[in-house]
Amino acid sequence: METIIDLRSDTVTQPTPAMREAMYHAEVGDDVLGEDPTINRLEEMAAEKMGKQAGLFVSSGTMGNLIAVLVHCQRGDEAIMGHLGHTFLFEGGGISALGGIFVHTLPNQPDGTILLDQVAGSIRGSDIHQPITRLLILENTHNRCGGTVITPEYMQQAGDLVHGQGLRLHLDGARIFNAAAALGVPATDLAASADSVTFCLSKGLCAPVGSVLCGNHEFIAQARRIRKQLGGGMRQAGVLAAAGMVALEQMVDRLGEDHVRARKLADGLAYMPPLTFPHGKPQSNMVFVRLVDDYALDAREVAARLKARGVKVGVVDPRTFRMVLHYWVDDQGVERTLQAFQDVL
Ligand SMILES: *Cc1c(COP(=O)(O)O)cnc(C)c1O
Repeated sequence: METIIDLRSDTVTQPTPAMREAMYHAEVGDDVLGEDPTINRLEEMAAEKMGKQAGLFVSSGTMGNLIAVLVHCQRGDEAIMGHLGHTFLFEGGGISALGGIFVHTLPNQPDGTILLDQVAGSIRGSDIHQPITRLLILENTHNRCGGTVITPEYMQQAGDLVHGQGLRLHLDGARIFNAAAALGVPATDLAASADSVTFCLSKGLCAPVGSVLCGNHEFIAQARRIRKQLGGGMRQAGVLAAAGMVALEQMVDRLGEDHVRARKLADGLAYMPPLTFPHGKPQSNMVFVRLVDDYALDAREVAARLKARGVKVGVVDPRTFRMVLHYWVDDQGVERTLQAFQDVL
């Protein structure tokens, strides 16, 4: 039996042999007491990669975003975010459930941005009838918009706007290194205007667990307290952080390969008549394709038939698939995926 090609997400990535080796040998201590040397090194390394003063190792991107919002906002404060943002769609409503945060969504543009005029027009004044607008959340790359890449210029303009109004900016940079690779800029350029930024070690970077939340010393001190409140204070988690360090050292610079393969996959699929590209050509490691309306099978059925041929794809809605390229899918994997689509369609 040939290996399964799993394109459902880059979260399915297994740790590399170098990661397992580093985990085995990791020096560890009680991180709640600040004594895990491996976590301390990972946090320093992450902060440097984001151009921030400090970092905090957290269990997931969801926890990183939640903690950031809880630091920036008090109960009843308003946070502005895109209507297709991960925090709005896919984080269980945690910021409202646990933080009492008032969510204000604005439309994401197809490129993943939010029109800054709309942001400006949504910031409330000091009228006691209204909640206090405290935060803008942006996402880069933008997952649900198609893995789109947002430029440093936009990030800077957004930062200038919200800071001028006394708000904070949080960047959900789950795949910020994909954005940086696609743009050919350092990730620090994308994070510079953000007061806080979180990125995932456990996606395209292949680590088994974890994200890092970064910001200034004061922000991270508060974030550390909230992580503890949420039950996220881990002890000898250096075994996990060790894999995260390998992720940052070895896996960041290769992300461009996934982008090349995403385009190759899209180019091949473009020849298949039932398929269209709802978000255009891939900008990073994601390929979204849609079945035309009059095609007889729905996405779930097509996905089941692809799976029977050893290819797993994500089903986004009854007509749309998402495929995410990652370290464990090579050129041959792309060829086999194209062949499987050819056979099924
Ligand atoms: C995956 C992801 C997250 C967080 O995911 P976890 O599964 O909680 O680690 C946050 N934002 C975006 C844009 C994501 O794609």
